Amino acid sequence: MRCRMRSNHCRLMHNIGTDIMHDFETLLRESAALHGHLCPGQVLGVRMSLLGLKSIGVDDPKGRDRKSIMVFVEMDRCATDAVQSVTGCSLGKRTMKFMDYGKMAATFLNLRTGRAVRIVAREEARNIARECFPAVTDPYAAQVEAYKIMPDAELFSAADVHVVVRPEDMPGRPLSRVPCARCGEYVQDRREQKIDGDLLCRPCALGGYYRILDGDRYAE
Ligand SMILES: [Zn+2]
Ligand SMILES: [Zn+2]
Repeated sequence: MRCRMRSNHCRLMHNIGTDIMHDFETLLRESAALHGHLCPGQVLGVRMSLLGLKSIGVDDPKGRDRKSIMVFVEMDRCATDAVQSVTGCSLGKRTMKFMDYGKMAATFLNLRTGRAVRIVAREEARNIARECFPAVTDPYAAQVEAYKIMPDAELFSAADVHVVVRPEDMPGRPLSRVPCARCGEYVQDRREQKIDGDLLCRPCALGGYYRILDGDRYAE
C-alpha cells in the first residue's frame, strides 16, 4: 500500500477530527509520561487503543465502562504501555492479559456485550511513514509523526473475533487457593496441575523460569 496522502498534504488530509486530535495529543502525553519517553510505539499503541475501544462501543474506559473491558496484548513492547495508559487495563486488575506471541497486536473485549475486535499493526505502515515525511531523516521521528496522522486503515488491520474468558481469568476474588504438594507454595485461580493425583504448581509440574540455588535464606 502506498501513502495515500502525499507528503505535503498529510496533515491536511488526515481523517482525524480536531476534537479527537486534541484528545489524542492528551492521551499521547499521558502515555509517554507513563512509559518514560515518546516513541513510535506510544503513538501506535494510543491509536490502536482508540480504534479498539471505539470498535467495541466503549467510550469511558477508565470511568463508566471500566468494569466492562478486557484487553489481550500480544507484545511486551513500547505499545503495551500505551494500551495500558489509554484503556486503564492492567495486569494487576486482571483486565490486561499478556499473550506472548511477539506480535504487534491486541484484542479489545467488551465484557458486557461480548463484542471483541483484534487489531494488528500493518507491517507496511513503516514504509509509508518514511514516504510521508521524506524530509525527516530520522526514521524513528518520521514514524512518530506519520503514525499520528495516517488513517486507521493504513496503520491497522482489524477483525471481529470471538473470545472466551474462563471464570478463573476474570477480575474479582480468587476462585481457588491450594498448596503445591511439592514446594508448599500456594497457587490461586486454578493454575495448579494434577500430576499422578497430586496438585502441583506449574514450575514444580512443568519446570519454571527459575532454579532455586541455596534454598530459603530465612529458613532456620
Ligand atoms: Zn518506547
Ligand atoms: Zn510447587
